[in-house]
Amino acid sequence: MTFRDLNLNTPLYNALDDLGFEQPTPIQSEAFSVVASGKDLVGIAQTGTGKTFAYMLPILRNLKFSKQDNPRVLILVPTRELVVQVVNEIEKLSKYINNRVLGVYGGTNINTQKQAVAQGLDIIVATPGRLYDLAVSRVLQLKSIQKLVIDEVDVMLDLGFRHQLMNIFDILPERRQNIMFSATMTNEVDTLIKEFFINPQKVQIAVSGTPLHNINQSRYNVPNFYTKLNLLEALLKNRDNFSRVLIFVAYKKMADRLFENLEELFPGECCVIHSNKTQNYRLRSIEQFREGQHRLLVATDVMARGLDIDDVSHVINFDTPEYPENYMHRIGRTGRAEKQGQTILLSTEKEQSSREDIESLMQMAIDVIEIPETIEISTELIEEERDIIKERHNPIKRRTDDEPGPAFHEKKEKNQKINLGGSYRREVSKKYKKPKTRGDKNYNRKNKRRK
Ligand code: AMP
Repeated sequence: MTFRDLNLNTPLYNALDDLGFEQPTPIQSEAFSVVASGKDLVGIAQTGTGKTFAYMLPILRNLKFSKQDNPRVLILVPTRELVVQVVNEIEKLSKYINNRVLGVYGGTNINTQKQAVAQGLDIIVATPGRLYDLAVSRVLQLKSIQKLVIDEVDVMLDLGFRHQLMNIFDILPERRQNIMFSATMTNEVDTLIKEFFINPQKVQIAVSGTPLHNINQSRYNVPNFYTKLNLLEALLKNRDNFSRVLIFVAYKKMADRLFENLEELFPGECCVIHSNKTQNYRLRSIEQFREGQHRLLVATDVMARGLDIDDVSHVINFDTPEYPENYMHRIGRTGRAEKQGQTILLSTEKEQSSREDIESLMQMAIDVIEIPETIEISTELIEEERDIIKERHNPIKRRTDDEPGPAFHEKKEKNQKINLGGSYRREVSKKYKKPKTRGDKNYNRKNKRRK
């Protein structure tokens, strides 16, 4: 397939020729018709697959020249580096198109950006916080946005931008096309899609289910966190064999918990990366692991995406990934450059169905190893493993749903006041036929005269 097979236009063809790009990447050819058709799209693709052009080519193809100043395309990305990079890519593609693109991000002077926005623009590329600030200040009007692109959603949610995304959704026009790209599938991403997307079409470059031939996979059935930890301790004591070990967990809290425990067992040998750590901390951790100062690195799926480290002796899946693709990404961190790599998967009873999904993606079973008898089976459970115990009926405690009962709203009939206008005289006249009030001067006067 070449770009000529996509229904582009001359300015875009010319820009692509200048760039020397001939063939669309798989995500580009697959996403093109979906984005062009106006449907919501969820693209699963990593950086380097050409995902920026995958959404920009159809958007630019259909963006008509306009004199209006409010932007029509909004692209949200998690970091300022990505704002700069995406703006740069759009500018390359728009070389022969007359459109106005602006990148905005936090940590810089907002007034300069306000002035730039006031000049008028077609496409705005932004980090969520700064975009919201500009919208609230009313300098930036979002009422004309027709297309919303959220790039690297997994990172965005992992960095805690969910709330800001909600705020932005609230002020965007309801009729719009949503386009989203994520490198990894996570529960948070899945929830967001279900809440805000209308029948999105999923475009995914099939993750190869075929593991590299030089990766040796094995697995253990382990009942709980602390038994996993005991097993891990026994394995990691073999320093010659487990020389550079990448340990994956699904979420930040688990990463911290595991790191703290490993730090006690193997002081000074371990580091951790997840999105609550500062970028400097993360970079330092990766560097120390790469240089061999630290033998063990604990990482979450999202943060380990960009890791490019050679000679990883073992990848340990401390938990079993819910999305089988994540397992493929994890194990691909070892067995690089034709070196032999080892992977170990630890699964509890609850994780068995995820393990089966992984095996069916790979169309092979992972060799199971019995836990050695020397490993202590712990009965202690961590918070997430304990069943939630329901409290028995407690009459003192207020009902949690906080719904006042119907009696609160419906007053008894005798207490219901119905305003018919007028005053109490209506009631009096009904009862006594004639008005009888002490102040009826005329009545008194008449009676006096007769006397
Ligand atoms: P991205 O995944 O969007 O970060 O893109 C990765 C790199 O691939 C960028 O430098 C793009 O300029 C480049 N690229 C995008 N599409 C193509 C293509 N069809 N052929 C060659 N390079 C491309």
